[in-house]
Amino acid sequence: MPRGVKKSDLPVKTCATCGKPFTWRKKWAKVWEEVRYCSDRCRREKRSQGA
Ligand SMILES: [Zn+2]
Repeated sequence: MPRGVKKSDLPVKTCATCGKPFTWRKKWAKVWEEVRYCSDRCRREKRSQGA
């Protein structure tokens, strides 16, 4: 686990919906490996094309 990690050293992922990078947040501490979207909005909009 992170120890003495600076804010700028936090992990970053790319949002699967909007393609923007987002930084690790405390609320994701336990699910970070599963996080794929920068926000609830993006999570809902994933492939909402209808089809
Ligand atoms: Zn996003």
